[in-house]
Amino acid sequence: MSQTPTTDAIPTGRREDEIQVYDLHKSFGEREVLKGISLTVHQGEVVCVIGPSGSGKSTLLRCVNLLEVPTSGRVFIMNEEITDLDADVDAIRSQMGMVFQQFNLFPHLTVLENCTIGQTVVKKIDKAQAENIAQGYLEQVGLGDRGSAYPAQLSGGQQQRVAIARALSMDVEMVLFDEPTSALDPELVGDVLGVMRALAQEGMTMMVVTHEMAFAREVADRVIFMDDGVIVEEGHPDLVIGNPQHERTRAFLQRVL
Ligand code: ADP
Ligand code: MG
Repeated sequence: MSQTPTTDAIPTGRREDEIQVYDLHKSFGEREVLKGISLTVHQGEVVCVIGPSGSGKSTLLRCVNLLEVPTSGRVFIMNEEITDLDADVDAIRSQMGMVFQQFNLFPHLTVLENCTIGQTVVKKIDKAQAENIAQGYLEQVGLGDRGSAYPAQLSGGQQQRVAIARALSMDVEMVLFDEPTSALDPELVGDVLGVMRALAQEGMTMMVVTHEMAFAREVADRVIFMDDGVIVEEGHPDLVIGNPQHERTRAFLQRVL
C-alpha cells in the first residue's frame, strides 16, 4: 500500500532517495489525470509502474522530469526540487535518461552521432572523448559494430537499444522508461528487455512503465499498480503481480496475463 503523504512533506535528504514525489496532482483542463501520487525510488532500485491505458502512467513519468508541469505537488530528484520555480531544471534533468516507446533518434545522424550529440552540445565534452564513451555503451547494448549505421538501417529493437545507449552516454544517475518495448515486433522485445535486465543488475536506478509482466515480476524490486490517477497498490512483484490485494489490480492482471 502507498503511504498517505502529508502535503507539506519534505525530502528526507537521504542520498539513496533518488526520486521523491509528494502528493502530485495533474489536470488537463477539467480532467484530473493524477490525483495525489506519492512515491520514492531509491538508488539502485527498479520500480515498474503498471496499470491500464489512460491511468496516468506516462503523465507521472513526464511530471517526474518536468516535461509536464504538475498542477500541484512536489518532485525531488537527488534531493533537489525540480518543481521549485527557481530550480535549474536542465541541470536536474541531466541526471535522468529517458527512453520512450518511440525511439526518437535523429534520422539524419549515425548511431554513434546520436550517442555523442548530447554529450558534445549539452555537456561540452570533446568529440573524441564523447565517441569513446558512446562506443562503450553501444558495446554494452550489443551494437558496438553499428556505430556508422543510420537509424533507418536498424530494426526497431536495435534502435531502442541505441536509445538506451544514448541515455547512458549522458552519464545519468537514473533512467525512466515509458513502455520501451510496446512499439516493437514481438521477436525484438527480448533483446531490449535483456539490455534493461543487465542494466538493472549493474545497479542502475530505473523507473519503468511497462506491460511486460514477466519482466516486472523478474526484474522489479517494487511494482506500482496505478488506476485512474492513483496508486492502488504497491509492493514486491510477488505480491502485487503474484498475489494482488485489490480487486482493481486483479481485474487488470486478468486482462494482461
Ligand atoms: P497512460 O500512460 O497510463 O496510458 P497517460 O498518462 O498517457 O496514461 O494519460 C492519462 C490521461 O491523460 C488520458 O486520459 C489522456 O488522454 C490524458 N492526457 C495525457 N496527456 C494529455 C495532454 N497533453 N492533454 C490532454 N490530456 C492528456
Ligand atoms: Mg502511457
